[in-house]
Amino acid sequence: MTSAQRVLVVGCGIGGATLAYALRRNDVDVHCIDIKPSTPPTGAGICLLHNAVRALGTIGLADACLESGLPFQVFKQYDAAGKLLASNPAPPGCGMRRPELARILEGAAASAGAVMEKGITLRDLVDRGSHVEVTFSDGRQASYDLVVAADGAYSKVRERVFGAEHGVRFAGQSAWRFNAPRPAEVDGFCLYRSADGRRTVGALPTSKETCYLFFLENSAEHLHMPDDQLHVLLHERLADFSAPVIRDSLAHLTDACQASFRPFDITLVPAPWHRGRVVLIGDAAHSPTPQMTSGGGMAIEDAIVLAQSLQQHPTVPEALAAHGARRYERVKTVFEASLQLCLYEQEPVPNPQRSAALLLKTYQYLGQPM
Ligand SMILES: Cc1cc2nc3c(=O)[nH]c(=O)nc-3n(C[C@H](O)[C@H](O)[C@H](O)COP(=O)(O)OP(=O)(O)OC[C@H]3O[C@@H](n4cnc5c(N)ncnc54)[C@H](O)[C@@H]3O)c2cc1C
Repeated sequence: MTSAQRVLVVGCGIGGATLAYALRRNDVDVHCIDIKPSTPPTGAGICLLHNAVRALGTIGLADACLESGLPFQVFKQYDAAGKLLASNPAPPGCGMRRPELARILEGAAASAGAVMEKGITLRDLVDRGSHVEVTFSDGRQASYDLVVAADGAYSKVRERVFGAEHGVRFAGQSAWRFNAPRPAEVDGFCLYRSADGRRTVGALPTSKETCYLFFLENSAEHLHMPDDQLHVLLHERLADFSAPVIRDSLAHLTDACQASFRPFDITLVPAPWHRGRVVLIGDAAHSPTPQMTSGGGMAIEDAIVLAQSLQQHPTVPEALAAHGARRYERVKTVFEASLQLCLYEQEPVPNPQRSAALLLKTYQYLGQPM
């Protein structure tokens, strides 16, 4: 028996869709809404670390991800001309295309009976203590035992229920990303560093045929890039990287819509992550910088632990308290390590050994049970 029988999940992203499926496995009635219209999902790649794959394994979705993506266990470092400087074993991870991850998670939730509704959001929400009454953007009304905010870093539910003080702040770095055909060399996590060590291009396999590349840009201020010039601006920024992997990949970048630019806007909401019968999961509760490639993994773990807590505890307040107690320290450790790595990268003289040591230590920490 579960302590919540009717659950509204706001946001069908990585955390929301995982939760919708995990709850359906426990026979909970799930309504999952997303403000985005029902268009095919887009996006670059994502790395699911060992803990994320293990968490997906607990709900039977790891194999689909491993088959769609490309598992890897190597971390390679190159100079800007493509000369291999170091190749080290990495904890097992899986690179995959974000639209594929969305297809697997949303498809599993819908097939299991979750109601997945796109192009809709919340207009109003009132917590009555024993249930939550909501009004949707199309005027419909409904009531639920629990409302889960899985609406990402810029969460409107968080703002409404927790106040504006937990909003995001800029971490001093942004990422450019684009997809490309996969060269054989990109069989793991590859980093290409400029001669002064201050600029980094990364490449990650996302399937046997594809990979994605990212470039990290430091700036004191939050930057805005013109959407129709992204490809041109990225070509300019990478002009002095002569590594064949980067040059060949850039040759495929011919249109602005193939590239994306995203400032690292971060937040870590202090515990508890619930108010009454409304709880935050994933980026809505903790949006880290991506250096630990773990924001998605943390959202997946949050979703699975929340479904377990609702199953294990007789009341919603007890379940939400247990969920927060299991999640907060783990998420905080990963959030702080990610941010520290991001800050190291902004120092005038980077120290790659120090960064690698912190990365490795935090990878090992992630090996502990969620
Ligand atoms: C450059 C970069 C690289 C990254 N690389 C990795 C990586 O390799 N591995 C990893 O694990 N993580 C990575 N991350 C982090 C990862 O993308 C996020 O942590 C993850 O997407 C969070 O999942 P989520 O479900 O909480 O939020 P999201 O995936 O952002 O989903 C939120 C959903 O809510 C919907 N929504 C928003 N507002 C509303 C609203 N008002 N009403 C209804 N719906 C709404 C959105 O449309 C969206 O579908 C990276 C992040 C960045 C920026």
